[in-house]
Amino acid sequence: MQAPLVDQFRRRISYLRLSVTDRCDLRCTYCMPERMTFLPRKDVLSLDELHRMALGFIARGITKLRLTGGEPLVRRDVIDLIRALGRRVGADDGQGALEELTLTTNGTRLAEFADDLFDAGVRRINVSLDTLDRARFEALTRRDSLGQVMEGLAAAKAAGLKVKINTVALKGVNEADIGEIMAWAHGQGFAMSLIEVMPLGEVEGDRFDHYLPLTQVRDSLERRWTLTPSSHRTGGPARYVDVAETGGRLGFITPLTNNFCDGCNRVRVTATGQLYACLGGSEQVDLRAAMRSDDPEAALSAALDVAMAIKPARHAFAIDRAGAEPALARHMSMTGG
Ligand code: SAM
Ligand code: SF4
Repeated sequence: MQAPLVDQFRRRISYLRLSVTDRCDLRCTYCMPERMTFLPRKDVLSLDELHRMALGFIARGITKLRLTGGEPLVRRDVIDLIRALGRRVGADDGQGALEELTLTTNGTRLAEFADDLFDAGVRRINVSLDTLDRARFEALTRRDSLGQVMEGLAAAKAAGLKVKINTVALKGVNEADIGEIMAWAHGQGFAMSLIEVMPLGEVEGDRFDHYLPLTQVRDSLERRWTLTPSSHRTGGPARYVDVAETGGRLGFITPLTNNFCDGCNRVRVTATGQLYACLGGSEQVDLRAAMRSDDPEAALSAALDVAMAIKPARHAFAIDRAGAEPALARHMSMTGG
């Protein structure tokens, strides 16, 4: 085992979010434009490079690995990578081990992959779903795929995967659906978290129009449901409540209105191997150059030390000005959230 990753503020970094592709089969309006420019394929790390890079992180003490995108399940043969990484879950050969391998998906291809994911060692997944209404789903994602997602969720449940539904709260779009999604999700035995929309990358239209503070969502949910603060924590920005009527748990992820940076334990890597030390910052390290160097293992480890030295104390997001430029030029589909 090599030295664990600890940043300059003595935060132990144990969680990697790795984007395996920037491509996607949906076009969520808050995430990307219809005519999204995707990365040239030659710039994207191969599955083998992604695998070796992830092993380098695991050797430095990363214990939780989340695959994301773009849509991770649209990358060809991604299941081979997932199987290979799954072999690090609970490994005891001194090369570092994962406690958890997970992924964030839009669910469109889950029906095909749910059993394979479970067999590979995945036990929990996050599925993004912003409405249960077919027409609204189509308007929001620019694709008529709600049926596919619902089939995927049923397959995930049948395969034994624990599911958390992630819902972006959007003023005037799915505001009125949130209680219904929660009741449905909890009825299925799924957890749920709400996310505030973040100013990442150019999209058509102005996100400020749809920015909905979760404090407001919570107030309106409390008119109908009994929400009790929960002590549940995951080391991330989410704060949880238990919902008496449904018996389920609801998380609130509020990177814009709350300060969650002190306990930050994570870094993000794009499909081209750019490490972003903070979701809300531009501090970055080129891990692809390290992976394509003469001594990738040593170069990667040295690059991770640089990342620890530049990880900022806190993010600098703001979404408070109508018509403002995005706080960061990159899209969420690059870093995967
Ligand atoms: N395609 C997969 C999915 O949708 O779950 C994984 C990648 S997606 C970028 C990860 C999460 O980021 C999704 O839950 C999505 O709703 C969220 N997201 C995308 N753009 C966002 C934005 N500008 N603000 C807040 N959340 C965003
Ligand atoms: Fe695709 Fe996920 Fe972005 Fe939607 S949020 S366009 S599913 S990457």
